[in-house]
Amino acid sequence: MTDPSLADARRRTCECAAASHAPRLVAVTGGPGAGKTAVLEIARRSLCNHVVVLPEAASIVFGGGFPRRPSVPARRAAQRAIFQVQTELERVVLDEKRAAIGLCDRGTVDSVAYWPEPVADLWKDVHSEEATQLARYSAVIHLRTPSDVMGYDHSNPLRTEPVEDALHLDRLIEQA
Ligand SMILES: [Zn+2]
Repeated sequence: MTDPSLADARRRTCECAAASHAPRLVAVTGGPGAGKTAVLEIARRSLCNHVVVLPEAASIVFGGGFPRRPSVPARRAAQRAIFQVQTELERVVLDEKRAAIGLCDRGTVDSVAYWPEPVADLWKDVHSEEATQLARYSAVIHLRTPSDVMGYDHSNPLRTEPVEDALHLDRLIEQA
């Protein structure tokens, strides 16, 4: 893996010289193993510096040691934490106004797919509503999880779902 700062230094410049922008958020989502990370890496390397790619909130939360347990209270706590991290990551882009596009590795509404029913409790807990959260994004790009036959990748250590669960999650994310 190359040093991100070196990759950034080689980033293409463009003709836009505006000092600030009104950033728009675009969520790139999809089930586990859909290829989001690879697609976002290509975007980060090949698009101009007015497009910033946000890190995935769930990777920050779980990679940072947040307990990943199957109990309902633990799953709810994890999704609230992910929701807050995602919101603050997006806010950096929105408030700095340096980028024109913030490409998000999943969006706040992804939590719906991982939240133990009922979903209304999620919106109550984070003091928001689905319509408000959907309105944050100018576009949502959904990448499909491939089936086992199509080459589901089992090598990611943070990816704990078997392929059937991954496909089920992919459908839940699509619905959300
Ligand atoms: Zn540009």
